[in-house]
Amino acid sequence: MTIFEKIIAREIPSSIVFENDDYIAFKDINPRAPVHVLCVPKKVSSRLDEISDPLELGMLYQTAIKVARGSCGLTDYRLAVNVGVGAGQIVFHTHIHILGGWTDLDAEKQHQDMAEG
Ligand code: 5GP
Repeated sequence: MTIFEKIIAREIPSSIVFENDDYIAFKDINPRAPVHVLCVPKKVSSRLDEISDPLELGMLYQTAIKVARGSCGLTDYRLAVNVGVGAGQIVFHTHIHILGGWTDLDAEKQHQDMAEG
Protein backbone atom coordinates (compact mmCIF):
# COMPACT_ATOMS: atom_id res chain seq x y z
CA MET A 1 0.00 0.00 0.00
CA THR A 2 1.44 3.40 -0.95
CA ILE A 3 1.42 6.34 1.43
CA PHE A 4 -1.20 7.98 -0.79
CA GLU A 5 -3.50 4.95 -0.49
CA LYS A 6 -3.16 5.33 3.28
CA ILE A 7 -4.15 8.99 2.95
CA ILE A 8 -7.16 8.02 0.79
CA ALA A 9 -8.16 5.41 3.40
CA ARG A 10 -7.71 8.01 6.18
CA GLU A 11 -5.12 5.78 7.82
CA ILE A 12 -2.76 8.75 7.94
CA PRO A 13 -3.86 12.37 8.23
CA SER A 14 -3.54 14.96 5.50
CA SER A 15 -4.94 18.34 4.66
CA ILE A 16 -7.50 17.48 1.98
CA VAL A 17 -8.60 20.32 -0.30
CA PHE A 18 -10.73 18.32 -2.77
CA GLU A 19 -12.20 14.84 -3.06
CA ASN A 20 -14.68 13.03 -5.25
CA ASP A 21 -15.24 9.35 -6.10
CA ASP A 22 -12.18 9.15 -8.35
CA TYR A 23 -9.65 11.74 -7.14
CA ILE A 24 -8.28 13.29 -4.00
CA ALA A 25 -6.15 16.42 -3.60
CA PHE A 26 -4.24 17.33 -0.46
CA LYS A 27 -1.47 19.67 0.64
CA ASP A 28 2.08 18.44 0.15
CA ILE A 29 3.77 17.73 3.49
CA ASN A 30 6.95 19.43 2.27
CA PRO A 31 5.72 22.40 0.23
CA ARG A 32 8.00 23.75 -2.48
CA ALA A 33 5.75 26.74 -3.23
CA PRO A 34 3.33 28.93 -1.20
CA VAL A 35 0.58 26.64 -2.54
CA HIS A 36 1.64 23.04 -3.12
CA VAL A 37 -1.13 20.47 -3.54
CA LEU A 38 -0.99 16.93 -4.90
CA CYS A 39 -3.77 15.71 -7.18
CA VAL A 40 -4.03 11.93 -6.92
CA PRO A 41 -6.23 9.44 -8.77
CA LYS A 42 -7.74 6.89 -6.41
CA LYS A 43 -7.29 4.18 -9.05
CA VAL A 44 -3.78 2.94 -8.38
CA SER A 45 -1.02 3.25 -10.96
CA SER A 46 2.59 3.71 -10.03
CA ARG A 47 3.59 6.38 -12.55
CA LEU A 48 1.95 8.63 -15.14
CA ASP A 49 3.12 6.66 -18.16
CA GLU A 50 1.33 3.57 -16.86
CA ILE A 51 -1.99 5.24 -17.62
CA SER A 52 -2.71 4.18 -21.20
CA ASP A 53 -6.29 5.43 -21.46
CA PRO A 54 -6.28 8.96 -22.93
CA LEU A 55 -9.60 9.68 -21.23
CA GLU A 56 -8.12 8.79 -17.85
CA LEU A 57 -5.09 10.97 -18.51
CA GLY A 58 -7.33 13.81 -19.60
CA MET A 59 -9.56 13.44 -16.56
CA LEU A 60 -6.53 13.57 -14.27
CA TYR A 61 -5.34 16.83 -15.83
CA GLN A 62 -8.85 18.25 -15.93
CA THR A 63 -9.20 17.50 -12.21
CA ALA A 64 -5.82 19.08 -11.43
CA ILE A 65 -6.89 22.25 -13.27
CA LYS A 66 -10.22 22.28 -11.43
CA VAL A 67 -8.43 21.91 -8.08
CA ALA A 68 -5.85 24.59 -8.96
CA ARG A 69 -8.46 27.12 -10.04
CA GLY A 70 -11.32 26.16 -7.75
CA SER A 71 -10.09 24.67 -4.48
CA CYS A 72 -6.75 26.55 -4.48
CA GLY A 73 -8.05 29.78 -6.03
CA LEU A 74 -5.08 30.05 -8.38
CA THR A 75 -5.12 31.77 -11.76
CA ASP A 76 -1.42 31.16 -12.46
CA TYR A 77 0.08 27.85 -11.48
CA ARG A 78 2.44 25.09 -12.51
CA LEU A 79 1.41 21.45 -12.98
CA ALA A 80 4.36 19.07 -12.63
CA VAL A 81 4.74 15.32 -12.76
CA ASN A 82 7.87 13.41 -11.83
CA VAL A 83 7.98 10.15 -13.78
CA GLY A 84 10.53 7.73 -12.33
CA VAL A 85 13.29 7.89 -9.74
CA GLY A 86 15.64 9.64 -12.14
CA ALA A 87 13.13 12.48 -12.44
CA GLY A 88 12.69 12.79 -8.68
CA GLN A 89 9.63 10.60 -8.13
CA ILE A 90 9.59 9.31 -4.56
CA VAL A 91 6.00 8.17 -4.15
CA PHE A 92 5.01 5.49 -6.67
CA HIS A 93 1.35 6.34 -6.88
CA THR A 94 0.66 8.64 -9.84
CA HIS A 95 0.12 12.27 -8.88
CA ILE A 96 0.28 15.78 -10.28
CA HIS A 97 1.94 18.55 -8.29
CA ILE A 98 -0.02 21.82 -8.32
CA LEU A 99 2.32 24.68 -7.45
CA GLY A 100 1.49 28.35 -7.21
CA GLY A 101 0.80 31.36 -5.05
CA TRP A 102 4.12 33.10 -5.72
CA THR A 103 4.65 36.81 -5.62
CA ASP A 104 6.09 38.32 -8.81
CA LEU A 105 9.61 38.18 -7.40
CA ASP A 106 9.25 34.58 -6.23
CA ALA A 107 7.89 33.63 -9.62
CA GLU A 108 10.84 35.19 -11.39
CA LYS A 109 13.26 33.17 -9.25
CA GLN A 110 11.24 29.98 -9.79
CA HIS A 111 11.34 30.44 -13.54
CA GLN A 112 15.09 30.94 -13.43
CA ASP A 113 15.52 27.84 -11.27
CA MET A 114 13.42 25.80 -13.69
CA ALA A 115 15.36 27.07 -16.70
CA GLU A 116 18.61 26.15 -14.97
CA GLY A 117 17.25 22.71 -13.99
P1 5GP B 1 7.23 12.94 -6.04
O1 5GP B 1 8.64 13.31 -5.75
O2 5GP B 1 6.99 11.45 -5.92
O3 5GP B 1 6.74 13.48 -7.37
O4 5GP B 1 6.35 13.67 -4.97
C1 5GP B 1 5.88 13.07 -3.82
C2 5GP B 1 5.45 14.17 -2.91
O5 5GP B 1 4.73 13.60 -1.84
C3 5GP B 1 6.60 14.95 -2.29
O6 5GP B 1 6.52 16.31 -2.68
C4 5GP B 1 6.43 14.75 -0.79
O7 5GP B 1 6.70 15.91 -0.04
C5 5GP B 1 4.97 14.34 -0.68
N1 5GP B 1 4.69 13.46 0.45
C6 5GP B 1 5.40 12.37 0.82
N2 5GP B 1 4.83 11.80 1.90
C7 5GP B 1 3.74 12.54 2.20
C8 5GP B 1 2.75 12.44 3.24
O8 5GP B 1 2.75 11.55 4.08
N3 5GP B 1 1.78 13.39 3.23
C9 5GP B 1 1.73 14.39 2.30
N4 5GP B 1 0.74 15.27 2.41
N5 5GP B 1 2.64 14.51 1.32
C10 5GP B 1 3.64 13.59 1.27
